[in-house]
Amino acid sequence: EALSLPRYKIHMKMNLDQESPGFQGEETITFINGEEIILENLYLRLYPNGHKTYGNGSLNLIKVLVAGREVHPVLTVEETVVEVPLQEPLPPGGQVKLEVEFEGEISKDFAGVRFNYGVYNYTQGVMTLANWYPILAVYDDEGWNLDPVYGWGDAVYSDVGLYEVSISTPAKTVVATSGFEVPGKSSQNGNATTHFYVSGPTRDFFIALSRDFQVLKREVGDTVVNCYFLPGKLAVSRAALEVSATALEVFDRLFGLYPYVELDVLVLPLPFTGGVEYPGIILLSDGLFSDLDDTISRSVVAHEVAHQWWYGVVGSDVIDEPWLDEALATYSSALYIEETLGKTCFEGVLADWQERYTRARAAGTCASITSPVTSFTSNSDYTPIVYYGGALFYHALRERIGDEAFFEGLREYYRQFRYKIATTEKLLTLFEEVSGEELDDLYEEWLFAEGIIILLESKNLLFEEG
Ligand SMILES: [Zn+2]
Repeated sequence: EALSLPRYKIHMKMNLDQESPGFQGEETITFINGEEIILENLYLRLYPNGHKTYGNGSLNLIKVLVAGREVHPVLTVEETVVEVPLQEPLPPGGQVKLEVEFEGEISKDFAGVRFNYGVYNYTQGVMTLANWYPILAVYDDEGWNLDPVYGWGDAVYSDVGLYEVSISTPAKTVVATSGFEVPGKSSQNGNATTHFYVSGPTRDFFIALSRDFQVLKREVGDTVVNCYFLPGKLAVSRAALEVSATALEVFDRLFGLYPYVELDVLVLPLPFTGGVEYPGIILLSDGLFSDLDDTISRSVVAHEVAHQWWYGVVGSDVIDEPWLDEALATYSSALYIEETLGKTCFEGVLADWQERYTRARAAGTCASITSPVTSFTSNSDYTPIVYYGGALFYHALRERIGDEAFFEGLREYYRQFRYKIATTEKLLTLFEEVSGEELDDLYEEWLFAEGIIILLESKNLLFEEG
C-alpha cells in the first residue's frame, strides 16, 4: 500500500526580504492512480489564493509539465483549483509524473483582516508557510474535492504523501518543518544555506522560518518535542512545551503511539487564533498562558496536540464533516485535563462547554453537530456547535458504553484509519461494533437532530408544565 502514496520532491528558495517576502519553488509529484476508475485529469490546489484565513498573499504557477510535456492548466475557484489535463487517461494503478514551477508572495502583518490565521504570513521576522506548494486534491466517493477556502474552520483536505524537501535560506536562518532534517546534508553556498528534509507518510508539509528563533527541547519516548519561540517569550514557551510533552504522553497511552520522531511546537504572534495544527507541527499564540496555570491555555495546547491523531494520522473531510476531527480533538483536550488535573477540573471544562453550546442553540443556531462548514456563518456559530457540542456527544457516548468500550473504540479508530480517510458513518459503526450496542437513538439525538427542533421541544415542555 505504501507504494501507491504520492511522492512530492520539492526545492524551494526563500526570500526573507522585509519589503516583499516570498519564495520560488520547483516540485515533482509522482502520482499513482489508487482509484478504481480511469482519470482524465488531475487536480492541484493553491490554497493561499483563497485568501481569508490565509491573508492576502498568493501562490502562482509558472510552468506545469505532465510526463515531460508542458500543459496549460485551467484555474478555477478563486484560483485555488488547478485542472491539469493528462495527455493520456490514467488507468487504475497507472503512474504519472508532474513537474511544477511556482512562486509565492506572503502577506505581511496578518494583512489587517480578522479571520487571518497567520499561517501564510511574515511578521516580526517570522515567516509561516502553510500550503505553499501545489498539493494534490482528494478524489473520494464524491469525486474530486474542490471546495473554496472559507473564513472559518480549516481548508485543507488531503491524502498522505511522502515528502523530500530542500529549502534554501539566508545563512543562520532557523527552520522548522513537518518533516525532519537529514543530518549532515545541509550545504553552504555563499550567503545561503540549503537544508534537506524528509517525512514519513504525512498530509501536508508546513514550514516556519526566522533568524531569531530560540529552541527548547524535550524527549517523550522516541519523539523529540522542539519548541521554537522569539526572544522575550521564554515563560509562555516553557509552559507550552510542558503541556505539549505531557499531552503527547497522555495521548500515546490513551489512543496509540504518535508515529513521528519529532513534534514541533511554535509559539508565535497569532493575534486572531489560539492555535492551528499541521502534521508534525503545531502553532500556538504567544498570548496564551498570561496566567501560567490557566486551564483554557492548557486545553488549547492539548487540542492542537490531539489533532496529530485526529486529522494528522486519521484523516477526514474537513469541509463536509468538520466535526470528525474537531469534536474529538476538543474532547481529547478534556481527557488531558482529566488525566493531569483531575475529575473536578474535567467536569468544570465540560460544564463550560455545555453552557456555550446551550447559548449558541438559544441564539438560534440550528445546524446539527455533523453539518458541513458551509452550514455555519462564522467561527461564532461553528465553534460552539462543532467543537463543544461534538465534544459533549463524545462524553455522552462514553457514559453510555462505559470507559472500557469507549477507549477501546478510540484506539481501534486510530488503528483502522491510520493514514486513511475516516467518515462519520464508519466511526459510528465502529463504536457500535466495539460496544456491542445499538446506538442509533444516541446518534440521532446528538448528531443529526437540528437544534431548532430541540429548542421547540423544550419550549413545548415548558408550556405543558407551565
Ligand atoms: Zn481544532
